[in-house]
Amino acid sequence: MKIGIAGAGLLGRLAAGQLARAGHEVHVFDPAAHAEARGAAGWTAAGMLSPVAELECADENVFRLGLRTMELWPALLAQLPLPVECRFDGSLLLAHRGDEGAAARTVDLLSSKLSSVGWAAERHPSDARSALSTADAGVRWREAQPTKITAEQLRDLEPSIRGPAHAWLLPHEGRIHTVQAMQALAAVPGVHWHWGHTVDAIDAGVLRLGGGEQRFDHVFDVRGTGARPQLPVRGVRGEIFWLQAPGLQLTRPLRLLHPRHRVYLVPRAPDLVVVGASEIESEDRSPVSLRSTVELLAAAHSVLPELAEARVVHSESNLRPALPDNLPLLEVQAGLTRINGLFRHGWLIAPALVEQALQEMIR
Ligand SMILES: Cc1cc2nc3c(=O)[nH]c(=O)nc-3n(C[C@H](O)[C@H](O)[C@H](O)COP(=O)(O)OP(=O)(O)OC[C@H]3O[C@@H](n4cnc5c(N)ncnc54)[C@H](O)[C@@H]3O)c2cc1C
Repeated sequence: MKIGIAGAGLLGRLAAGQLARAGHEVHVFDPAAHAEARGAAGWTAAGMLSPVAELECADENVFRLGLRTMELWPALLAQLPLPVECRFDGSLLLAHRGDEGAAARTVDLLSSKLSSVGWAAERHPSDARSALSTADAGVRWREAQPTKITAEQLRDLEPSIRGPAHAWLLPHEGRIHTVQAMQALAAVPGVHWHWGHTVDAIDAGVLRLGGGEQRFDHVFDVRGTGARPQLPVRGVRGEIFWLQAPGLQLTRPLRLLHPRHRVYLVPRAPDLVVVGASEIESEDRSPVSLRSTVELLAAAHSVLPELAEARVVHSESNLRPALPDNLPLLEVQAGLTRINGLFRHGWLIAPALVEQALQEMIR
């Protein structure tokens, strides 16, 4: 088939590679000037792969998509022409002394949501809504529960962590180097990239751009926040920092459970730590604010005092594409697929959503 894709962000790059590999003629259109221009949210993301921790603001479908994606990433990355750092060592939830009340509430919420998702998966092991293999959701939820660990266990796992008095291990979580992945996904051979092209409107089999229209056998609308007014999508501002900390020992992503701020730290090769992220109901793309700088970096330093001498080498803000219910949307009809609303978990769920979209498209 001749396929047109509007949007070369995370979803567009993933879908293009899969479709080209399957032998289709794939054309991708994006307003970005070139493949390395950093407009898409996918570039900015810290790359936490957190099916359990994200349950705080997600539902059963996101959890299942997340588990499925954790299965898919290794095989997908192995097919790419460039290396991508991706690890599945689990993640840690941390809390300072005095914050244990708020932290326990969050951990209880995750545990009870995980249990209800797990029980539902056991009752309906082949959930037709998600058309997934279910990724053994019915079996794995028990093992995925947050486990409280002692100070000694924490020191064994992550010797550089000093501040927090309380820690929980989430064993089934991981992380991906999003910049490497965006680059590698665009290097898949056989895709026709059309940079500097804004798609103004989309109908079944038709992309409207540059005052004209181009016809395809099937088109994909994966424009993220650019899909308005055809979808009621909004951008949710997020700010992140890259700290360079040679010699710091950190293997797993960390989340600090704080009564007021949500802060996470994600190690990234060779010697970076990504600190994120604010979540602000605004479509302001301007540089990071002083308030976010103070809150995020002070919290990061409180967890890893060694960061005091780290260098702030980069900061970035971007918009997470979110629908009114903050849940993902996948719509497949003759000649047109729309995927949007990946919000804060795009890297966690995009591969499973694209897999599902391609299965529904050929049905
Ligand atoms: C600060 C921050 C931290 C995050 N951290 C994580 C994380 O740790 N883990 C995780 O799983 N997710 C995370 N995310 C979320 C993740 O990045 C997004 O969910 C994901 O990038 C959404 O993918 P997408 O392809 O829908 O949108 P995008 O990646 O934003 O891509 C949309 C593309 O559409 C293009 N476009 C826009 N308008 C048009 C048009 N008119 N015509 C053609 N093309 C158009 C854009 O240029 C862009 O290239 C984070 C996001 C942010 C901002």
